[in-house]
Amino acid sequence: VKKNKDAGDVPHIRTPIVCVLGHVDHGKTSLLDRIRGSSVVSGEAGAITQHIGATIVPIDSITSMSGSMKSLNISIPGLLFIDTPGHHAFTTLRARGGALADMAIVVVDITEGFQPQTIEAIQILRNCKTPFVVAATKLDRVPGWRSTEKSPFLKSFGNQNERVTLLIETKVYDIVATLAEHGFSSERFDRVSDFARNLAIVPVSAHTGEGISDLLMVLIGLAQRYMEEALTLTVDGPGAGTVLEVKEEKGLGATIDVILFDGTIRVGDEIAIATTDGVSTTKVRSLLQPRPMQEILIEDRFLRVKEVVAAAGVKVSAPGLDQVIAGSPVRVIGDEPEDVKASIAREMTEINVTLSPEGLIIKADTIGALEALCKELSAHEIPVMRAEVGPVSRHDVIETETIKDPLYRVLIAFNTPVLPDAQDLLKEPAYADMIQFFTGNVIYHILEDYLEWRNNLKR
Ligand code: GDP
Ligand code: MG
Repeated sequence: VKKNKDAGDVPHIRTPIVCVLGHVDHGKTSLLDRIRGSSVVSGEAGAITQHIGATIVPIDSITSMSGSMKSLNISIPGLLFIDTPGHHAFTTLRARGGALADMAIVVVDITEGFQPQTIEAIQILRNCKTPFVVAATKLDRVPGWRSTEKSPFLKSFGNQNERVTLLIETKVYDIVATLAEHGFSSERFDRVSDFARNLAIVPVSAHTGEGISDLLMVLIGLAQRYMEEALTLTVDGPGAGTVLEVKEEKGLGATIDVILFDGTIRVGDEIAIATTDGVSTTKVRSLLQPRPMQEILIEDRFLRVKEVVAAAGVKVSAPGLDQVIAGSPVRVIGDEPEDVKASIAREMTEINVTLSPEGLIIKADTIGALEALCKELSAHEIPVMRAEVGPVSRHDVIETETIKDPLYRVLIAFNTPVLPDAQDLLKEPAYADMIQFFTGNVIYHILEDYLEWRNNLKR
């Protein structure tokens, strides 16, 4: 988006990418919403976020939240937040085989504490070596809490009676203890002296805005440190990004929503993309950008720009994007087109999934989703014979029917549509009576449904 104001000889530091993870309903969307000051929660269907959105919060908007931040010498241009539908989506957001996010916020409802999905989230972050901060949210729900709108945590904390103070200390300590069980040393943020060694826990409320400025300050601290030390990614080279979503737009046809994590992309650039028919190339017709502080998924009036610099969320319009695979890489082709195409092809096959000669067939909308579902199935010792990205086709139904073991004669569609002719086939008695079909958007619901069905079958 913007380059550093007073960059001079200093290398351009790109906008760090931040993911928000945590248990369903613990307040991820509300927190992001509070941070960007818009209202996405009310526009969402159901409690679970169904899509992935990105928002850039410029550094000025962040520092203006707190007087003490204005004086800091901050070189990052802002933060790019990605709203992930549950922790599994984090694995979907990949960049060159690793995590797309530079940092993460793990959201935990302070009244409920860590849940299995929260623990899974911190394990994923540990595996990816992604630095994170814990937001202990819904502070205003603590019985007896007296709120002061938008106040820093310590100021509000000082206004509480002894009972509430003690309760908060206990809740935070519970989080510290749980994190310790998982090998993380943590402290309430104001007691952390070395942020490289200790995770910071920031008590916040998305509803009252309390602690939000503290959370952002800790995030910026983490970002400065990691971006300067390890991640001096160029913003000048050929653009590299990850496809969040393929979307049909009125007047534009198929477009791709991309998180650009490196380099620059320009109108007229040749780009390489991964489609269901393999790697192909196309020419960027237009670049549409969300306005700062707005959600790209609900944005309808786009800003047309000539170029976009990492990190940014950008909608790319170009011919031949309808078959692009969500979660796949996008690269601007520079001097070595064959190398770029080969590297995309390699990334697409590096799906970390173990297949068995006997097992179920699964389809999913993205590589990451496929991996996440496979991992969950293998954790329950459920073998998978075939795992593919894309909608459920007639061929998938026919192939499922040929599986010998009735326990595995199962077709799972995770977050992906069923093509009409496949739907018809699934209704035919010859298939309907033979095949078990599961579909859904939440991995553990699919898993529960499968396990319940299997238990009934065995009985
Ligand atoms: P997500 O599933 O993690 O994205 O959670 P949401 O942001 O959708 O929040 C789930 C529910 O918790 C909603 O009803 C929110 O209004 C509520 N909620 C979220 N944050 C807070 C908070 O700070 N205080 C209170 N009282 N409720 C909250
Ligand atoms: Mg949500």
